Amino acid sequence: MVPSKKVKEPRNPKERCAICGCALRRGEGYGKPTPEGRSHATKHHYVAERFYGRSRNRRGPQRNPIFRKPAWRLREETDVFCYECHEELLHNPVFLPEDIRQFANVVKARKLNERRKGEKRHRIARRVRLLNEIIKAGLEQTASSSR
Ligand SMILES: [Zn+2]
Repeated sequence: MVPSKKVKEPRNPKERCAICGCALRRGEGYGKPTPEGRSHATKHHYVAERFYGRSRNRRGPQRNPIFRKPAWRLREETDVFCYECHEELLHNPVFLPEDIRQFANVVKARKLNERRKGEKRHRIARRVRLLNEIIKAGLEQTASSSR
């Protein structure tokens, strides 16, 4: 649970989660195992701030950025989700062992693997893009078979 991500001020009483569509709640109980806590509004950056070497949620030195220029032209853009969809679904995707093996094979085929870490971060940047490409392909295939 990252309390600083919760959206405190009420915006729109009819506001809904961008994924599951539940009516979002605000106020007390963020993240608690209650219907109110599970449907509490939270803001999520489409592209993580840490990828640009900074984070408003965590103190300390800036990270070495993965992306120097805005990736996907979405540097600052956010959406609002319920606690469940944000903190449990988006932040904890399930990758089974076979999924990781297949992903590692694609990483290697695209020469994005690394024997030793150097100073540059271009390969992790391209692995981030590759994972997004794979998610997008899976979404398109799943959406077309769900019609
Ligand atoms: Zn939701």
